[in-house]
Amino acid sequence: MTPPRSLAARALAAAERASQPCDYCAQPIIWAVTRDSRMPVDATPDASGNVLLDVATGGGIRATVLGPPARVAHRAGGWALYLHHKLTCPQAAEWTRTIRATPPKKKPAADNPAQPTLGW
Ligand SMILES: [Zn+2]
Repeated sequence: MTPPRSLAARALAAAERASQPCDYCAQPIIWAVTRDSRMPVDATPDASGNVLLDVATGGGIRATVLGPPARVAHRAGGWALYLHHKLTCPQAAEWTRTIRATPPKKKPAADNPAQPTLGW
C-alpha cells in the first residue's frame, strides 16, 4: 500500500522554498494562507503538528488545521504536519496581538504602508 506521495512531496518542497526567518525570534517559518487570513507556521514539520500545508491554487502555501482523525489519515498518507508558530515562538505574545489587530486584507506584502492615524 503505497500512498500517493506526489502532492505531499510537492507541498513539502514548496514549504521549504517559502521558509523565512521569523521577524521576532529568527526561527525559520512559513507564511501560509488560510481561508481569511495568514498563518505563520514553523518551517520544520513536527510530530505533534496539526497544520497541513499544501500548494494553493494561486501558487502560495495554504494552511489547513486538522482535527485528530484527519491528522492520522494525512500522516499515513505521507503528509508532513506543522505547528502554528505561536506555539513555539518565544515572542508570540507580541505578534499574535499584531495579527489580530490587522484586518484580513488581501495584501501579501510583509509591511503595511499607510497606517491610518487617529488624528482628526
Ligand atoms: Zn518567532
